[in-house]
Amino acid sequence: FITDIYTRKEQEAALAESRNQLEQHAQELEGKVKERTKELEHLNLGLKSQIRERKLAEAALKESLEEVKKAETEILKALDKEKELNELKSRFISMASHEFRTPLTTILSSADLIGRYTDEESQEKRIKHINRIRNAVQNLTNILNDFLSLEKLESGAISLKLVEFSLKEVYHEIMEGIELTAKPGQQIKTSLAPDLNLIITDQHLLKNICLNLLSNAIKYSPENTTIEFEVSEPEDSLLQIRVKDEGIGIPEKEQSNLFQRFYRAENATNIQGTGLGLNIVKRYLELLKGNITFSSKEGSGTEFIVNFPYRKP
Ligand code: ATP
Ligand code: MG
Repeated sequence: FITDIYTRKEQEAALAESRNQLEQHAQELEGKVKERTKELEHLNLGLKSQIRERKLAEAALKESLEEVKKAETEILKALDKEKELNELKSRFISMASHEFRTPLTTILSSADLIGRYTDEESQEKRIKHINRIRNAVQNLTNILNDFLSLEKLESGAISLKLVEFSLKEVYHEIMEGIELTAKPGQQIKTSLAPDLNLIITDQHLLKNICLNLLSNAIKYSPENTTIEFEVSEPEDSLLQIRVKDEGIGIPEKEQSNLFQRFYRAENATNIQGTGLGLNIVKRYLELLKGNITFSSKEGSGTEFIVNFPYRKP
């Protein structure tokens, strides 16, 4: 029995001992778990910041890619523009070499004839040929001016120059120039609204628009017809230019192409021209924030109407 008790005590002590050991072990384990957790948390934080950095890098990459793309489209656009300008130039050269021939031949033959009219009575004939030369030179100048305007427009070198000026004076200047180029018997009926005088707009563009429309009306109308040229103000601060002729008109199927560069209607091919005038007028009107419309009937005549806003001084 005593031995029995003894053994039992021993057993209890051993039990306590192992419980102790277990507790210690548990504590150690807990410590380790805590440590691991800390390590993991640290790792997690590191990962998170790595992800953040990566996202930033991706965004930066995207941004610089977009910049490269933008630069690319800009370069392509500039190249296109350059190509277009080159095409325009070569097209102009082939057109000019063709269009220059007629006036140059006229000048040469008229100069020849003038040289032969030596007697007094031939004065009338001389004057006729001098006028022919004048017209031919005007023609050449017009072609060159058209081209220069177009090139300037194309390269963006034309901007609005708004100045105050007298519309009456400019109107008379236009008429003085244009009356000289009219065909025999062509009458130009003019009308300028009496209240219109001092205005602020681009004088050069205004003049060019009028000259282009008037020279077309003269060119595409036969002798002994009437051309109407009216400048009015249909609404407050809106200028209207109307040019009407009784000329060859524009075939209906060609009317939609009229403002295209170099476009010339079929019934106009025997008459000198480059097909640039109306394209320039339209682009000038874009600059002036205006518009141009026309109505025409082949064989009976054409009317162009231009509207654009202007400022009062
Ligand atoms: P330019 O560059 O010398 O003015 P163009 O007169 O041929 O040459 P635009 O003024 O642009 O060129 O006119 C384009 C085309 O429109 C003409 O070729 C002609 O067919 C037609 N057109 C223009 N105005 C008239 C008009 N008043 N009557 C008949 N046709 C016209
Ligand atoms: Mg013209």
